[in-house]
Amino acid sequence: MCQILIIYTGGTIGMMSDPKTKVLRPINFEQIMDNVPELERLNCRIKVHSFDEVIDSSNMNPAIWSKLAGLIQEHYDDVDGFVILHGSDTMAFSAAALSFMLENLGKPVIFTGSQLPISAIRTDAKENLMTAIEIAKAKKNGLARVPEVCIYFDYKLFRGNRAFKYNSSKFEAFRSPNYPILAESGVHLRFSINDIRHPQPDQKLIIHQKLTSDVAVLKLYPGIGAKVVENILSADVRGVVMETFGAGNTSTDPWFIDLLKQAIDSGKVIIDISQCKVGTVELGRYETSKQLKDIGVANGYDMTYEAAITKAMYLLGNYDDPKQIKEYMEMDIRGELTVS
Ligand code: ASP
Repeated sequence: MCQILIIYTGGTIGMMSDPKTKVLRPINFEQIMDNVPELERLNCRIKVHSFDEVIDSSNMNPAIWSKLAGLIQEHYDDVDGFVILHGSDTMAFSAAALSFMLENLGKPVIFTGSQLPISAIRTDAKENLMTAIEIAKAKKNGLARVPEVCIYFDYKLFRGNRAFKYNSSKFEAFRSPNYPILAESGVHLRFSINDIRHPQPDQKLIIHQKLTSDVAVLKLYPGIGAKVVENILSADVRGVVMETFGAGNTSTDPWFIDLLKQAIDSGKVIIDISQCKVGTVELGRYETSKQLKDIGVANGYDMTYEAAITKAMYLLGNYDDPKQIKEYMEMDIRGELTVS
């Protein structure tokens, strides 16, 4: 019989409205189970690990990601797959972070949650939970069908490091415009076989639990001042994710390029991702990105903001040499970017 580990971290799926304040607050896992008697009918043994303190995912942090990676390592040989119940607000950050922390992953790690609590009459939680379990246990020829860190939400399975939350009021909360969905659930559960990544055979799972929060964000807008840019670039961090215009373009003002160059020369890694949600950074395509390439800004290609931040946290936590970090930043290491 298959075996699945559900890890419950919190989120709306397990919240209830406080009768007095009407504010949504997390409840414990037994109360969730009471709402889904169907779980008993799955031909599967379900183990549950509930966090002592369940949280709204706005309180998520790298220490908890490290704990999640540790739990996956601890149970890896005993189960067929993992389902992580998590708030949708920061789910894409957690899924991306875990994808970098779990190298050579051979089993499904499926994040899910919901927009309405599981006890609500019109809840989306039951479908999300039941199908996430179906995907976590799905096998072909004895091997997991989706040995990846994924997000399952509203009938779609996304690669975790390609998705982002784009809608806070529809059940369709996530999108992944730069990479196809990995599976779709309808009358049948259809997997997009050619889009799913598989580890090299015989490679063992390697867990990287060290992340650093040494990252700042520089989001550009027309008219941004030198003082603001200088303050962000001089923050006590080793990596800066720079959100640029269009295909990775920025102002060509000499003061701006000089500040970026000084930061890079002092050992910081600057990663160029676009404010556009669809498409890719093409350093050198326009005059407004040519100098970025020349001074050594890293090309983030079509990475999501969530993937760029967590990849920087992972690389900065595990490597010292800025040149090597830049090189890995520009490489596809877990399916998070497409080199164009
Ligand atoms: N605020 C909630 C959370 O992220 C929203 C959700 O679960 O969808 O924990």
